[in-house]
Amino acid sequence: MGMSSLRLVWIYPDLLSTYGDQGNALIVERRAQMRGIQVERIDVRSDQPVPTSGDIYLIGGGEDRPQRLAAERLRKDPGLGQAVARGATLLAVCAGYQIIGHEFVDDLDRVEPGLGLLDVKSGRGPVGRRCVGEVLADVEPTLGLPALSGFENHQGVTHLGPGVKPLARVTAGFGNGTEDGTEGAFAGRVIGTYMHGPVLSRNPALADLLLTWATGVPLTPLEDRWHEQLRAERLRAVRAASA
Ligand code: GLN
Repeated sequence: MGMSSLRLVWIYPDLLSTYGDQGNALIVERRAQMRGIQVERIDVRSDQPVPTSGDIYLIGGGEDRPQRLAAERLRKDPGLGQAVARGATLLAVCAGYQIIGHEFVDDLDRVEPGLGLLDVKSGRGPVGRRCVGEVLADVEPTLGLPALSGFENHQGVTHLGPGVKPLARVTAGFGNGTEDGTEGAFAGRVIGTYMHGPVLSRNPALADLLLTWATGVPLTPLEDRWHEQLRAERLRAVRAASA
């Protein structure tokens, strides 16, 4: 796709946007523009249909009740599923990650069906344990990304099915919250992660991966000196605190 304009769809900012997840949209927008790619950003409220023609879709995290409401609406809207089926890129964070899987447990302790766009199932973690704090994780090598840094706050744990690979393996924090130490999952151009931060602000290389998938062309490198310095400081601090 020789791309002059990129359609960026931010799903349900009114229900799913905790810990500044909207920053993910700002980072994608900015890093595209810095390469001369124009961005048409479409914010889809939960009473609006999800367009099928987007190039990159973003979903954020949320509290348990808004998560249930968002899932109810998304299950009735074929837009996101159709977009993913024709190869659109999707990044879903925390509640969004749980929603795009096969099932999750809602605020009423019921198992809710998800959208089945990623082969994962989420349930509740052990009573009395909430996964809160800094996360550091080494990314699945084939993706070619530096370690991911993020912030997590979730009760849910996510089990990966055979149709996905773990996005990363935690060196600090909980990630998927399972014994295997994995964090997030991906298949094709769909990524789920527990990382807030916002994750794309903390990890610009992940934003560039989404942009590469969506545009199909190599991206001009950006001068990321300050970002790199901040990242290095944070990685050092988290490593020291978890040593
Ligand atoms: N409600 C979900 C959980 O606690 C997701 C939380 C979030 O998105 N921060 O597991």
